[in-house]
Amino acid sequence: MPVYCESEGIANLLAEVDRVLNDAGAKHEFILIDDGSLDDTWMVLNELAGEFPELRAARLSRNFGKDLALCAGLEMADGDAIIVMDADGQHPPSILPEMIAAWRGGGVDIVDAVKLDRGKETVFSKISATLFYLIWNKLSGFELRGASDFKLIGRNAVDAYLTMQDRNVFFRGMTAWVGFRRKQVPFSVPARSGGRTSWTTLRLLKFALTGITAFSAVPLQLVTLAGIVFLLFAIVFGLQTLYVYLSGQAMTGFSTVILLLLIIGSLLMISLGIIGEYIARIYEEVKGRPRYIIAEKIGPSNASLGFEQAELHVTRD
Ligand code: UDP
Ligand code: MG
Repeated sequence: MPVYCESEGIANLLAEVDRVLNDAGAKHEFILIDDGSLDDTWMVLNELAGEFPELRAARLSRNFGKDLALCAGLEMADGDAIIVMDADGQHPPSILPEMIAAWRGGGVDIVDAVKLDRGKETVFSKISATLFYLIWNKLSGFELRGASDFKLIGRNAVDAYLTMQDRNVFFRGMTAWVGFRRKQVPFSVPARSGGRTSWTTLRLLKFALTGITAFSAVPLQLVTLAGIVFLLFAIVFGLQTLYVYLSGQAMTGFSTVILLLLIIGSLLMISLGIIGEYIARIYEEVKGRPRYIIAEKIGPSNASLGFEQAELHVTRD
C-alpha cells in the first residue's frame, strides 16, 4: 500500500485486511510505503509494526507520488503474488477472497479490480476522467475504462513490471502494457475512510500528461499533420493570391493577414509545447536519477533489494 497522510484510517484497514486474508487462508505480509507523509503516518506505522510482526515499511525521503511509491513497494515485495491497494479504504478488502481465488484457480497472472461506478465525485472530475481514458485508449491502444490501481499481480508479472525502469511511471498503463493472462473483478468505490484526497486538478493534469507522453508519440505526429494541412492551404491560397496580383485586382486584405498570423502563431507555439513535453521526459530519463529514495525502514531488510536502493539506503544509528 502506498500511504500518504493516512494516519486516521490505516490501523482499521490493516486489521480488516488481515482478518479477510486469514479467513481466505492466505499467508501474507504487509508492505507499506510512506510517501513522505506530512502527518504522523510514519509513527502510526511504527506502532502497527508492533501489532503485526509481518509488517514491513519504508519511508520515502519526500513525496514522490503514488506511482513511484508503488514501484518502491513492488521492489521490496517477494511474495508469490502481490496485492496493490489504496490505504484510504476506497479499495474494499471484501473482494480480496474473490481476487485470490481467481489467481489460485490458475490460468490468471493479474487480477484487475475494476470500478463498477466511480463513487462520489464532482461532475467535472467524472467528465475529465472519461475524456482522459477516451484519449489515452485511442492513443495507446490499451483499454483502461474502469481501471483502478487495485490489483493482484502474480510473481512473473511483477518481475516483468520491474524490468521497466521508466522514470515517468504510469502504474495503471504499465501494468496493462506487460500483458499476461488477466481477469477482472468488479467493485464499487466506497467513500474515503478518513483524511482527504491529495489529487488537485493541477496534479491530475500532470498525471494525465505523464500517462499520455509515456505511452504515445501520436501528439508529435499531430504536429506534422497540422503542418501538412497548412501546407495545402498555403499552396491553394498562394496560387490564388498570385493570380489576383497578376490580374491587377489585389485588395487590401489586411484582416486576412492578421487572422492567418494569429492562427499560425498559436499553432506554432502549441507544437513547440508538445515537442517540449517530450524533450522534458527524455531529459528526465537520460539523467538516470534513482526513481525514489528510501530514508528509513521498518522490519527485516530484504535480500532481493535492488542495487540502487541498497546504495542509497540511509542508515540510522
Ligand atoms: N498516495 C500516495 N502518494 C501521494 C498521494 C496519494 O502514496 O502523493 C496514496 C494514498 O495514501 C492512497 C492512494 O495513494 O493510499 C490513493 O490516493 P487518494 O485516495 O488520494 O487518491 P484517489 O482515491 O482520490 O484517487
Ligand atoms: Mg482514494
